[in-house]
Amino acid sequence: MLNSELTGPEGVLLGHRTIAEIGRQILPVSPQNYEVWLTYLTHASPDLRQAVDKLIASGKPISSDDMEQIYERFFSTTHLSTQVMETGTRIAHEIADALDALKRAGATTERYGATLNVAADSLQNSTIDGDALKRLINVLASATTEMSKQNSTLSHKLAQSSQEMEKLRTSLRQARAEALTDALTGIANRKLFDETLRLRKEEADTERTELALLLGDIDHFKSFNDTWGHQTGDQVIRFVASALTKFALPDHLVARYGGEEFAVIMPRTSLRDAGRIADQIRSAIEAKRLVRRSTNETIGAVTVSFGAAIYVPGETVGTLISRADECLYMSKRSGRNRVTLETQLPPIPASSAA
Ligand code: GH3
Ligand code: MG
Ligand code: MG
Repeated sequence: MLNSELTGPEGVLLGHRTIAEIGRQILPVSPQNYEVWLTYLTHASPDLRQAVDKLIASGKPISSDDMEQIYERFFSTTHLSTQVMETGTRIAHEIADALDALKRAGATTERYGATLNVAADSLQNSTIDGDALKRLINVLASATTEMSKQNSTLSHKLAQSSQEMEKLRTSLRQARAEALTDALTGIANRKLFDETLRLRKEEADTERTELALLLGDIDHFKSFNDTWGHQTGDQVIRFVASALTKFALPDHLVARYGGEEFAVIMPRTSLRDAGRIADQIRSAIEAKRLVRRSTNETIGAVTVSFGAAIYVPGETVGTLISRADECLYMSKRSGRNRVTLETQLPPIPASSAA
């Protein structure tokens, strides 16, 4: 979506089209509905567009429940902060006011047009005298004044509602980003991991591309915590997150999967490349001599075990995750501080393969 579509006169128009569409669907103008329909109209998310089109195609009126489901699916279950909700309500009022102003201006324009027509007719009448001309000019002058007053109120209102819409968008964006970020490390949290993996699976299905999944777990972290304390443990978690981020490619998603467990979603990446990247991360972590920030003591190195699996078209994200997890478990069992690819797993015994 281009930013210019959301600001200035185009942004105002878009806001109105969004509200009009919500009205057409006989739905309340809530911040959530606004966000969904704005995204729909701007084609910003093909998946959302498809989901909404499916609802429209069903021929049944779209219910508030339908809208809630769409919102939950595409904008996460983030419960909007009160501040965002308030902004949302304010924007709805702003737009309603602006629409009113538009309607009023429409009525005035019609009246203005009618006045001009009458004036034109009178001017064609060659017998018009000086007094009549003066009256005519007075009528035209006052109609023009009223018109321009209406117009400036209108542009002021539209500018205001455009500003409010921009504020709302910023608040929504911030609230969403916060709700999808892990507070300790600043990387994606589990929720964003789940959403992204689902989207990447759909993408791999439609575009027939590879999708690798990497899981990592810090080795012997419990005893590390017991020795050095939870705070130093947190420092290590942050360090591991930054090492993952450093080696992941720009379209990879690095996430904190659980306490001391991490995941990297790698679209358009083969298992072999995923393994190569995992090994770079593994050895960078192993090589780093950590220093306890609070006391400057050397605490040595930490190591991380990894498991990598590749998406099999048609499988669920659940089975992909379990295979990566199995590989991770294999790394742990065979000595930790290593990467296991699913091609290195022992074959499934024939009896349980059915
Ligand atoms: P293994 O090599 O088998 O993974 O051993 P481990 O000790 O790392 O495994 P285990 O899963 O038993 O321990 C994980 C520990 O991670 C338990 C918990 O104390 C610690 N942990 C989980 N989340 C956090 C966190 O946010 N901060 C800190 N400091 N520690 C955490
Ligand atoms: Mg663990
Ligand atoms: Mg561990």
